[in-house]
Amino acid sequence: MTVISNHMPTAELQALDAAHHLHPFTNGGELNTKGARIITRAKGVTLTDSEGNEILDGMAGLWCVNVGYGRKEMAEVAARQMLELPYYNTFFQTSHVPAIALSERLAKLSPHDLNHVFYAGSGSEANDTNIRMVRTYWAEKGHPEKKTIIARKNGYHGSTVGSGSLGGMTGMHAQGGMPIPDIHHIDQPNWYAEGGDTDPNEFGLQRARALEEAILELGEDKVAAFIGEPIQGAGGVIIPPETYWPEIQRICEQYNILLIADEVITGFGRTGNWFGCETFDIKPHIMTIAKGLSSGYAPIGGSLVCDEVAEVMNSCEFNHGYTYSGHPVACAVALENLRLLDEEGIVEKVGKETAPYLKKKWESLNEHPLVGETQLCGLMGSMALTPHKDSRAAFAAEAGTAGLICREHCFANNLVMRHVGDRMVISPPLVITNAEIDTLVERAWKALDQAHAQLK
Ligand code: PLP
Repeated sequence: MTVISNHMPTAELQALDAAHHLHPFTNGGELNTKGARIITRAKGVTLTDSEGNEILDGMAGLWCVNVGYGRKEMAEVAARQMLELPYYNTFFQTSHVPAIALSERLAKLSPHDLNHVFYAGSGSEANDTNIRMVRTYWAEKGHPEKKTIIARKNGYHGSTVGSGSLGGMTGMHAQGGMPIPDIHHIDQPNWYAEGGDTDPNEFGLQRARALEEAILELGEDKVAAFIGEPIQGAGGVIIPPETYWPEIQRICEQYNILLIADEVITGFGRTGNWFGCETFDIKPHIMTIAKGLSSGYAPIGGSLVCDEVAEVMNSCEFNHGYTYSGHPVACAVALENLRLLDEEGIVEKVGKETAPYLKKKWESLNEHPLVGETQLCGLMGSMALTPHKDSRAAFAAEAGTAGLICREHCFANNLVMRHVGDRMVISPPLVITNAEIDTLVERAWKALDQAHAQLK
């Protein structure tokens, strides 16, 4: 039998990978010809690949490795928990200490009265839970017809049929029969791409009022909830104008619809506070969490639920759950992750020191001829590439995707940055140092120069 290990030549690993492994969100043809980049180990903010390259991970994996790679404490907690109780479920009136302890910790950590948690294995599953929960909530209150959920175009809420339907990604909707019925999408608050000459704050109000228009059109008695990410992440790190969220909050309250904040990316320190809802002063009924909850060390997600919704859900039997809802090892790992984020002052440091430092450096990229704008909130940033700085124009399709070209140069310069169309985005581990931020920005500048030369 072939022993497959880190010591195997890259080409052999790539051939085996291409032969047997179907990758998510990956062009299979490209994978077969170029081969996957194979990551063998990681420490802090640095990945090592099978060729020995040391790569600065400007994306914290998929926006998730908040405490950084290689934390021994997390491994030890996982090993201890596996030996003590590797698995038990939380169905049918059973529970266990890791789920109880994590739930209590999350209730204390989360804002206002989000005192209850329903666990899932991922952010997608948690959003599927949310679809069923808000509909069940209204049905239990005697309004079964209140079941439409309003979401945004270019929002991302996951990849299952339910969560992918909540998302507003047209490329996803084109495959596999999405969206499911009773999901309605409104325009996004993306001023840079869609705001034209409108003042950004006026534009923020207009885009929030699209929610009010949709509620009036669909009928208040038909709408269950609105869902949005405090900052659209996968849509390109789009930070809404400051008028947007207060108006959304007002509309949800006025029309008696539930507000779901999808904090899968923005939760657990990413914006410089524990939750994006604190940064934007949002008061949701339900908050989706995943990723930074365990810093990606174990698959876990969940829905944090306010007292009022939990009371109704506890008055019925919710016929919903996952084998791994409240998995003991994932809960123990998440609890340890929260301890590290808290006791090492990691979240506080992002808000007070790291984010202001990154902001200064990130904004310096505005001087590059290819950059139309930069945006940053906490340690979540984006820049828009443009051929004409003043007009905020997009690249013509025949130029290829400028972002993709730029991303390839980032890779070649040992930096992971993601592209979303012609936007480049970053979301590094929260433990990144100032010296590593300098390296990140230097490599980004170099990649921009190389992309610029190629696009001329
Ligand atoms: N919600 C948001 C805002 C996300 O960014 C993501 C993933 O990127 C998800 C949900 C889905 O989470 P998962 O990939 O864990 O299913």
